[in-house]
Amino acid sequence: MKRLALAHLPTPLVRAERLGAELGIDLYVKRDDATGGAEAGNKIRKLEFLFAEALARGADTVITCGGIQSNHARATALTAAALGLRCVLFLRTLDAAADGARMDGNVLLDRLAGAEIQLITPAEYRDRARVMREEAERRRGLGSNVYVIPEGGSNGLGSLGYVEAMREVREQLDGRGEKTFDRVVLACGSGGTAAGVAIGAAKYGVARVVHAFAVCDDEAYFRATIARIVDEARALDPSLPAPKELVVDDSAKGPAYAVSTPEQRRAMALATRSSGLVFDPVYTGKAFFGASRLARSGVIRGERVLFLHTGGLPGLLAQGEELRDCLPVG
Ligand SMILES: *Cc1c(COP(=O)(O)O)cnc(C)c1O
Repeated sequence: MKRLALAHLPTPLVRAERLGAELGIDLYVKRDDATGGAEAGNKIRKLEFLFAEALARGADTVITCGGIQSNHARATALTAAALGLRCVLFLRTLDAAADGARMDGNVLLDRLAGAEIQLITPAEYRDRARVMREEAERRRGLGSNVYVIPEGGSNGLGSLGYVEAMREVREQLDGRGEKTFDRVVLACGSGGTAAGVAIGAAKYGVARVVHAFAVCDDEAYFRATIARIVDEARALDPSLPAPKELVVDDSAKGPAYAVSTPEQRRAMALATRSSGLVFDPVYTGKAFFGASRLARSGVIRGERVLFLHTGGLPGLLAQGEELRDCLPVG
């Protein structure tokens, strides 16, 4: 499979000793928040495969979609700019008037990258595949060569980025003579990362269990979505094994996508104070909150845990006001 070298690899694999000790687990963090500069995060690993296919097909335009503060849309917009492609983003919003003027977080970076932004309602977003297909057809009619990237870059091809990431972890463990993990913990939003990690963890013997914390939808939705992506990936590369035991856990998703509880925000802020690692309130903060609850309640006590840090910093910076309540008073 063709792959562009877009990410800064290998990303560091670090032991978060104090944070792990507080939770009673042996905690390691895979720093995929450091896959790049402004384009950093998990999406760039998927985009290495997706943009390689786009270029191979001679595309001059990419179309993708996401929430108004989508990390995936931002990584796609910056990568398209780097490669000289036009980028069209369909971004979901409840308030087009307010979000149409927003100049913060990911959407600020989208605008700086020169992406063409089209705001759509949650109802339209449910039909996102059709919305993007129709726009692609319209532009093809005008002479463009368009490549459509699905939500989150989450299809079989994109998920290969995380099969590769597990190979990278295996090499890091071997290089240091360290043991395999009991569990990989990660946030799950469109399923492609979990699918790739589950296949890669099996292929490279990285961990016994893959534990994906849903940040939206529910367990049934992600079980089906991840299974579909796994099937696509294994159709592209029949040498890939069946995935590792996969736990899809929707107990930490909070009130809604991108909406967190005060308890989640406090857990996130406390973790930053004892590790220097910054979690975001949409993805990594919720996954970390879920993992810390499992640890404190004894379910994973003593385990050797790999937390996959998938990035998300611009999303945090777009929620500054909402995070005021997790700072100490006085
Ligand atoms: C997109 C994203 C995820 C979830 O990855 P999926 O492959 O979409 O499930 C996790 N963390 C961050 C920061 C993300 O941007």
